[in-house]
Amino acid sequence: MSLPDVFDPDILALPLYDDAHRALAGDIGRWCAGRAEAWATLDAAEPAASGRALLADLGGAGWLRHLDPAEPASDLRALCLRRQALAYHEDLADFAYSIQELTAAAITRYGNETQQRCYLPGLATGTTAGALALSEPGAGSDLAAVALEAVADGDGFVLNGTKTWIAQGDIADVCVVLARTGDGPGPLGLTAFLVESSVPGFKAEPIGAIAPRSWAQLDFTDVRVGGEAVLGERGQGFVVALDILERARATVAAAAIGFARRAFRLALEHARTRKVYGGRLADLQLVKSSLARMDVKLSAASLLTARAAWAIDGDLDHAKHSSIAKLHSTEAAGEIVDGAVQIFGAAGLVAGSTVERLYRQIRSLRIYEGASEVIEMTIADAL
Ligand SMILES: Cc1cc2nc3c(=O)[nH]c(=O)nc-3n(C[C@H](O)[C@H](O)[C@H](O)COP(=O)(O)OP(=O)(O)OC[C@H]3O[C@@H](n4cnc5c(N)ncnc54)[C@H](O)[C@@H]3O)c2cc1C
Repeated sequence: MSLPDVFDPDILALPLYDDAHRALAGDIGRWCAGRAEAWATLDAAEPAASGRALLADLGGAGWLRHLDPAEPASDLRALCLRRQALAYHEDLADFAYSIQELTAAAITRYGNETQQRCYLPGLATGTTAGALALSEPGAGSDLAAVALEAVADGDGFVLNGTKTWIAQGDIADVCVVLARTGDGPGPLGLTAFLVESSVPGFKAEPIGAIAPRSWAQLDFTDVRVGGEAVLGERGQGFVVALDILERARATVAAAAIGFARRAFRLALEHARTRKVYGGRLADLQLVKSSLARMDVKLSAASLLTARAAWAIDGDLDHAKHSSIAKLHSTEAAGEIVDGAVQIFGAAGLVAGSTVERLYRQIRSLRIYEGASEVIEMTIADAL
C-alpha cells in the first residue's frame, strides 16, 4: 500500500497544506501500514477491549501527544490527515483516536488549569479513555432537549438520567456530560460536567452496532459530583457542545475520505484484474464511468475538507465550511463504498471482506455529529 493510495498527492501539494503536514501524512501513513498486521488480529466481537488496545497503541506511538498542554499543539489539518490515514486502515483505530480528540478538545478549550492538568496528560498517553456524552434517548439532533438533570446540592450537583449512543462510553474513565441545570430555558439551561466513570451511580451498558465499536448507554443514578466538575461556565453547556461539534465535523469528513479512498483503490484494482467477456472489467464503459465519478467525488471531498480545516486553523468563519465538508464527504463516501461493492459483485458481500466491512462502517458517518439533514439546515441558515 503506497502513500498515494491513502492521500491524494495533488491535494497535499496545494498551499492549503505546508511541509509539516506533508511530512505528517508520510509518517502516519507509514505507521498505519506497519500496524496493519497487528490490527488484523483485533477481535470485532470485543470492541471495548479493542478500543483500549488501540488507545494504548496510539498513545504509545505518540499520536495523541499533542493533547498534553505541555507538548506542542496540533492544528486541525493535521488532525484531519491523521483521521484520514487511520480510517483508511482501520475503522476502530480512527474511532478511538477521534473520541480522545473530541474529549480533549472540550477540556482544552473550556477546562480550567486544574481540569487540564488532571485529565489531558492521561488522554495524551492513551492511559485515560475519554467520552463525549451529549445524546439521550429523547435528545439527539435536538440537543436543546437534553433532560439529564443536574440538581445543585451543597457545593456540588446530583446527576440523574440517561445518555445513549456514547462512543467509548463503556471504556471511558472520564466523560464530558451535558446536563440540565435549569439556569435558563431550553439550550440556556444546560451545563457541561466532567464525570469520572468510577463514581457511584454511574453505569455503562454496551450497545451492539452494525459495525462493532465501543459504544454504550450511560445511566446516572444519584451521581454526585463536586462544583469543580463544571466544565466552562454554568449555563454555557450548549455552546460548549456546538463549538466542539462544529470543529469536529471537518474531521468526520476526513475520516469519510479515508474509508472511501480505501474502497475506491480496492475497486480500481479489482476492475483492472477481473476478467469478463474476454477482457477486463475496467475496460467496460459503465465501469469506467463509475470509477471516474468516484474519483471526482473524492477530489471534491478532499478539497472541501482541506478548505474547512484551513479556515479553522486560520481562525476564520468556519461553521459553513465545516458543515459543507461533512455533508459532501460523508454522502459521497456512502456512494463510493456502495459503488465499490457493486464493482466487486458477490465478492463484495462476503462477510468480513474489506469492502463489506467498509460498507457497514461508513453508514454511521451520515448520522453522528449532525445528521445530513441537520447539516443542510446549518448550511442553509448561513447562506
Ligand atoms: C456510531 C455513532 C456514534 C455516536 N457517538 C456519540 C457520542 O460519542 N456522543 C454522543 O453524544 N452521541 C453520539 N452519537 C449519537 C449521534 O450524535 C445521534 O445519533 C445524532 O445526533 C442523531 O440523533 P438521533 O439518533 O437521536 O436521531 P434523531 O434526532 O431522532 O433524528 C432521526 C433522523 O431524523 C432526521 N432529522 C433530524 N433532524 C432533522 C431536521 N432538522 N430536518 C430534517 N430531518 C431531520 C435525520 O434523518 C435523522 O437521522 C453517535 C451515533 C452514532 C451512530
